[in-house]
Amino acid sequence: MEDIRLATSIFFEQNSQLKNIAQTEFSNLTRTKQGLVTMKAFDEHLRQRQPECLSSNLAAELDANNDGYLTFEDFLVYRYLFQTRPVCRHCKAIVKLVFYTCLECFAGKLKERTYDLCPMCYLGNKFSHPHKQFTNNYAVVNNIRKPPKDVPMVGKVAMAVGVGVSANALGTEVIDAFLPGAGN
Ligand SMILES: [Zn+2]
Ligand SMILES: [Zn+2]
Repeated sequence: MEDIRLATSIFFEQNSQLKNIAQTEFSNLTRTKQGLVTMKAFDEHLRQRQPECLSSNLAAELDANNDGYLTFEDFLVYRYLFQTRPVCRHCKAIVKLVFYTCLECFAGKLKERTYDLCPMCYLGNKFSHPHKQFTNNYAVVNNIRKPPKDVPMVGKVAMAVGVGVSANALGTEVIDAFLPGAGN
């Protein structure tokens, strides 16, 4: 979570309005004299605000000093995750680092949700989805800067990934090759 905590502070430095909104949200949830949020209050809040998410141990993961309460800094990490990451469509957990997104849904209507999976669910292949081509978030980012510039995004991603984008054909080896630094 260390990188995510750093990214959280950068994000809210650049988005002070969102930080103010998060501050109000946090204040409404505090139940202790010290102005902290209990795990129970956070879980209730999560169920109401993010019904698509079923991350049962998120509160514990956010609790940096493991004292059973969330500080405002912990709460900001939660806001940052939901502002920037998808929830896995299969296990319903918030994605923290890597996710696999369906290319066809990614290229679809902007208002519609993309179809994203965490690595475990993608590898396990237990999900049911009509489209077969997936790629991960890092491959998408790497691909943006590659020429030619006039090729649509989906074409570029498919070209960059090149092999094994079919969900059924994927093994651990191919997934590792997609990870950052592997030089797609
Ligand atoms: Zn999952
Ligand atoms: Zn799809």
